Amino acid sequence: MSTRLRVQALYRMKNMAFWKEKTLAQMNSEQWELLCDGCGKCCLNKIIDDETEELYYTNVSCQLLDAQQCQCRHYEQRFDFVPSCTKVTLDNIAELTWLPDSCAYRRLYLGRSLPSWHPLVTGDKQQMHALGMSTQGKVVNETKVKYLEDHIVLWPLKDSD
Ligand code: SF4
Ligand code: SF4
Repeated sequence: MSTRLRVQALYRMKNMAFWKEKTLAQMNSEQWELLCDGCGKCCLNKIIDDETEELYYTNVSCQLLDAQQCQCRHYEQRFDFVPSCTKVTLDNIAELTWLPDSCAYRRLYLGRSLPSWHPLVTGDKQQMHALGMSTQGKVVNETKVKYLEDHIVLWPLKDSD
């Protein structure tokens, strides 16, 4: 069990549903980090149509994404490897409309609740993976892909309460 999941389990055991009691602005940095479900969808390459500005997800992951664990291989140093990586913050969450509807930050920002499969609710990532809400086993590393256009997929758009 990772450190993050141990902390998640601890919060759950103590019934500290901070995501129900606090606004995003009231959360401390540890709680903010715990909100991330670790789905990996934000680490997928996306394409924006020049003419329509429509956004398309691909199944092509950032080079640093561990496809099985759905985690960044160098999370703390990620900006050294991928300067274009985006840190989700209170200040930019309103602008990050490309985040998937299932993203915990987007859900709470839009006044929704965490889904029943969220690791903070269930205690681990198994249900999220089983429901297909993560990238686990479904992505190709960008170092192995020539044309992003050949990899447009719809599954990252799936959301479920
Ligand atoms: S999409 Fe949102 S919840 Fe999922 S890994 Fe990215 S930041 Fe975390
Ligand atoms: S650097 Fe890490 S966190 Fe950023 S997009 Fe890549 S895998 Fe995701």
